[in-house]
Amino acid sequence: MTQIAFIGLGHMGLPMARNLLKAGFAVTAFDLVPEAVASLVGDGGKAAASAADAVRGATVVISMLPASRHVESLYLGDAGLLTRIAAGGLVLECSTIAPDSARKVHAAAAARGLAMLDAPVSGGTAGAAAGTLTFMVGGDAEALEKARPILAAMGKNIFHAGPDGAGQVAKVCNNQLLAVHMIGTAEAMALGVASGLDPAVLAEIMRQSSGGNWSLEKYNPWPGVMENVPASKGYSGGFMAELMAKDLGLAQEAAQATASSTPMGALALQLYRLLLKRGDGKLDFSAVQKLFVE
Ligand code: NAD
Repeated sequence: MTQIAFIGLGHMGLPMARNLLKAGFAVTAFDLVPEAVASLVGDGGKAAASAADAVRGATVVISMLPASRHVESLYLGDAGLLTRIAAGGLVLECSTIAPDSARKVHAAAAARGLAMLDAPVSGGTAGAAAGTLTFMVGGDAEALEKARPILAAMGKNIFHAGPDGAGQVAKVCNNQLLAVHMIGTAEAMALGVASGLDPAVLAEIMRQSSGGNWSLEKYNPWPGVMENVPASKGYSGGFMAELMAKDLGLAQEAAQATASSTPMGALALQLYRLLLKRGDGKLDFSAVQKLFVE
C-alpha cells in the first residue's frame, strides 16, 4: 500500500487527507495544531510527532501549508525534510506559494534524487471535502503520471500547466481573477441592496445574466443569500482574506517580473489590504463585502 505523509491539516489539508484515507491510502500526518492531527486519527490516519517522523517509511509526501516561507523552511536546508525522504520518493507540494520558491524546492529535490511537483489547487474547502479540487501541476510529466492516482483521490480536474513552477503561475493568475470577480460581485450586491433590491432576487438575476460568475454561483458574499457558504456563517471557514492578500501579492510579483500590466489585480490587493487593516484577515475572503456596506 502507498504510504503517504501529509504535512499541514488546515482548512484544506484535513479534508484532502480524509479523501486519501477514503480511497484506501495509508496516511501519516503532522500539523503544528495537535487537534487537527487528532481529527484525522479519528478517520483512520496515523499521527506523527513531527514532519520528520511523518515521512519515515513514506514514498509520497504531500504538503499543504500557508505560504512560501513555511514551505521553504519545511523542506530546505541541512536539516530540511528533503534530507529525510527516502530516495525515489515523490513530493507533492500543494500550497499556493511563489513560483520561485517552488522552483527552489524542485531543484533541491532533484539534487537528492526525489521527484517533485508543484500542485496547487482550486475549488475551496467545499471542493476539498467533496474531492473535486482542480490541480494545476508544474513539473515533470512522468512524475505527474506517478502522482495521478493520488491526486485523483482528492480532485476531479488535473492539469499539467508546464515545467517546474508552472502550476503556481496558473494558480496566481486564477486567484487574481477570483479576487476581482469576488470584489465586483460584492460591489454590485451592495449597490443593488442600497437601491432597495432583495439581495436573493438580485443574486439570482445576475447569476442567470451576463454578470454570472463563480462568486455568484457558488460563494455569494452577501450574508443569507446562499446556505453553507462562509458569508452565511459570519465569514468563518473557507479561504482566509490574508491568504488571498498573499496570492494577490504573488500575482503582483509575477507582473513585475514580466512587466505585465495588472491594474485590476493591483486594486484588488489594495482592497484586501484595507480588509486586513480592519482586523478581518482571518475571515473568509468573501468578507470583502464588508468594505461596501459599513
Ligand atoms: P490553513 O492556515 O487553514 O492551514 C495551514 C495549516 O498548516 C495549519 O493547520 C497550520 O497549523 C499548518 N502548518 C503551518 N506550518 C506548519 C509546519 N511547519 N508543519 C506542520 N504544519 C504546519 O490554510 P488553508 O486554507 O488550508 O490553505 C493552505 C494552502 O492552500 C495555502 O497556501 C492557501 O493559499 C491554499 N489554498 C487555500 C484554499 C482555501 O479555500 N482555503 C483554496 C485553494 C488554495
